[in-house]
Amino acid sequence: MQDDFLREIIPQIFLTDSPSGYDFKVNEVIINILTKLGYEYEILNKNTIVVKVLGHDNSKVVATSAHADTLGLMVRSINSDGTLNVTNVGGPLAPTLDGEYCKIQTRFDGQYTGTILSKSPSIHVYPDSKSMPRDFDHLVVRIDEVVKNKEDVLKLGINNGDYVFIDPKTTITKSGFLKSRFIDDKASVCLLLALLKELKEKGEKPHYMTYFYFVHQEEVGHGASALAKEISEFVTVDMGCVGLDLAGNEYAVSIAAKDSGGPYSYELTSKLIKLAKDNKINYVVDIFPFYGSDVGAAWRAGVDCQGALIGPGVQASHGMERTHLDAIKETMRLMYLYLTK
Ligand SMILES: [Zn+2]
Repeated sequence: MQDDFLREIIPQIFLTDSPSGYDFKVNEVIINILTKLGYEYEILNKNTIVVKVLGHDNSKVVATSAHADTLGLMVRSINSDGTLNVTNVGGPLAPTLDGEYCKIQTRFDGQYTGTILSKSPSIHVYPDSKSMPRDFDHLVVRIDEVVKNKEDVLKLGINNGDYVFIDPKTTITKSGFLKSRFIDDKASVCLLLALLKELKEKGEKPHYMTYFYFVHQEEVGHGASALAKEISEFVTVDMGCVGLDLAGNEYAVSIAAKDSGGPYSYELTSKLIKLAKDNKINYVVDIFPFYGSDVGAAWRAGVDCQGALIGPGVQASHGMERTHLDAIKETMRLMYLYLTK
């Protein structure tokens, strides 16, 4: 299902930096794809994109979403040696950032490259190079410019509050693995776009009026807080957890029964599990121990809807993530069935 299209749009979406709050560039990419597919869209005040697809019965409204924002960093302060202290945007797994390439985006359109390093980055010099904690008090950005002090950095136009984009290193292997940062949740953005393409090509309408949301600021807790009040069911698409005793894996769609915010809606979740089972979709049911989603954001914002979560199993989340295209396609199939069957 839409294999070529996925392989075409994954690099476009993944290689456009979009840490929470820096949303307009990835919106341009999404809008460009939607326009080519022949969809109209609206943009809400918080830059959420909404595509409203007419169904056979438009008296009922259902919704789905994926979040286009990712984890990132921001300049906290400039050090006297010309390196940058950073603060996290969302929750990147800090030790995995040591040695990663990055870009510093100045507020008014300058961009510089750099590397995230520990404060004791050389084994030949620092006795604590191996043992220094890899956290945001001990990681700095080394800028690829001749900067010897704070003034040199300021002259480049870099200042506190500038975004630092982490290189996602997006790769699709011959064996069908997608390895990249921010598969959470850009894989789901791509699969919803592929689903919209599938609907168009098949000339098929969903059962009900369906709102597709492409949201931002999920990673900081309030992504889908502006859903329309008329929505009665909301199935968000976000990564499935993999590891320990969980059933999730990189080939299956995970259906979440519960996360840190409590259980998802019983009837809607059961409906998705039955659909997956009856249609021989490779699925698992799981609980996500340290996890919140856009269903929680919508509920806390007062949207009175049934809520459920499905998504491709993603290994090493918030670090160097990996999934398989099979998990993305199984998730797409389940969402397609939910909307049309
Ligand atoms: Zn996510």
